[in-house]
Amino acid sequence: MSLKIYNTITRRKEKFVPINPPKVGMYVCGVTVYDLCHIGYARSAIVFDIIYRYMKFRGYDITYVRNFTDVDDKIINRAGESGLQWNEVAERYIEEFNADMAALGVLTPDVEPKATDHIAEMLEMIEALVDKGMAYELDGSVYFSVKSFAGYGKLSGKNIDDLLSGARVDVDESKHDPLDFALWKASKPGEPAWESPWGMGRPGWHIECSAMGRKYLGDTFDIHGGGKDLVFPHHENEIAQSEGSSGKAPVNVWIHNGFVNINSEKMSKSLNNFSTIKDILKTYHPEAVRFFLLTSHYRSPIDFNTQAITSAGKNLYRFYDLFSEEKKLVPEAPPGPETDTSPTEKFTELMNDDFNTATALAFLMEELRRINHLRNEMSRMKKKSDRYKNARTQFALGVRTMKKLGGVLGLFQRDPSDFIDSFKVAKLNEVGVTLDWIQKLIDTRAAARAEKNFAESDRIRDELEGKGILLRDTPEGTTWSISLD
Ligand SMILES: [Zn+2]
Repeated sequence: MSLKIYNTITRRKEKFVPINPPKVGMYVCGVTVYDLCHIGYARSAIVFDIIYRYMKFRGYDITYVRNFTDVDDKIINRAGESGLQWNEVAERYIEEFNADMAALGVLTPDVEPKATDHIAEMLEMIEALVDKGMAYELDGSVYFSVKSFAGYGKLSGKNIDDLLSGARVDVDESKHDPLDFALWKASKPGEPAWESPWGMGRPGWHIECSAMGRKYLGDTFDIHGGGKDLVFPHHENEIAQSEGSSGKAPVNVWIHNGFVNINSEKMSKSLNNFSTIKDILKTYHPEAVRFFLLTSHYRSPIDFNTQAITSAGKNLYRFYDLFSEEKKLVPEAPPGPETDTSPTEKFTELMNDDFNTATALAFLMEELRRINHLRNEMSRMKKKSDRYKNARTQFALGVRTMKKLGGVLGLFQRDPSDFIDSFKVAKLNEVGVTLDWIQKLIDTRAAARAEKNFAESDRIRDELEGKGILLRDTPEGTTWSISLD
């Protein structure tokens, strides 16, 4: 069974052949740290987290590099607005980003380079391009000459002539060609600045990824990823810079994830529908967000809406509900293999098809139904019978396998009772009620029942049910659970 990956540059699914197996090098564009991270980036982070986890699962020794763009116009502007220094803005949003990633269960990449720590590597690449006549200086800035690189457009499929006819040419534009892009920018007074052969300045955006990718993964590495919005111009420009300076194609496989839409609309500043990760996690459980994002193939667009994420959360709850039974049914791990071969093979086959998490999750749902069915059958068997013991071994193996395969997707790794408690809290946030409010109603109802006021008692029960909270009266008192209907 071989892994096939859709390669943006060849526009087809190809068998994955690492350059130097079992090693795999993967570079993914990180964030520009000037603001809180939105759900669109969460998708990218989770998609490449899955690829990272899956490569490890397949036995590859993967090195994952994801950068921080910590010098940029947006950071400088934010500093101006907030009264902070530009580097204080960057530090603050790196911390916020790290907290978001931890909440979403995204593994930390092996290397997280910052652009400002790699100015020397960028200058080296820019000088090589100038020496080759592929870049030129203008008033202290340096531009890449797009016409000097014959392969320009090969990633995005764009044609230079079409781009030129569509390019907006500013009247005072002094570049040789409107498509040329900045490798180095002369700094204005008060802006961050580093010494260079062309005077004090700062790097353009594209050059950092070329320089850091080369430094950590070599002239040519296996995988480069990012959101679809980065194909042009960012990744197209990266190829021009890297291949222009080294003469070698920098990347074998280009992977791009699709967008997140909000209620069927594209996220945009003008629609004011950017949802930050922090906002979303105020309402939804982080693992439910991950589960939801994996229900679509990574290259397809995904629509973020209340119904879809609520349904993802309920499905996730069903898994943890099963796991919470494990300790009761199988207090000690029975002997036997760590994982069941057949579901593992099926899962691998689905994931080998361009990391198809949508079908892999659907398969895990089938497995959930199978094991739940077994659990129900066990409740009707005699506890001492061989049939029961056999079923219990199958149950334990099924649950173990499911947790292991779910782990490849970054799911099912929490303690079941912790998950169920935190899911309840998230669910209450979603419907806008508090634990105190529920307890108060339960107490009021108990008092009403004591006075045999059953009309009031029923009214309270209905009120709670309206919020998706189900009451159960037991000899020890009234408990409650979340409705999954
Ligand atoms: Zn990049």
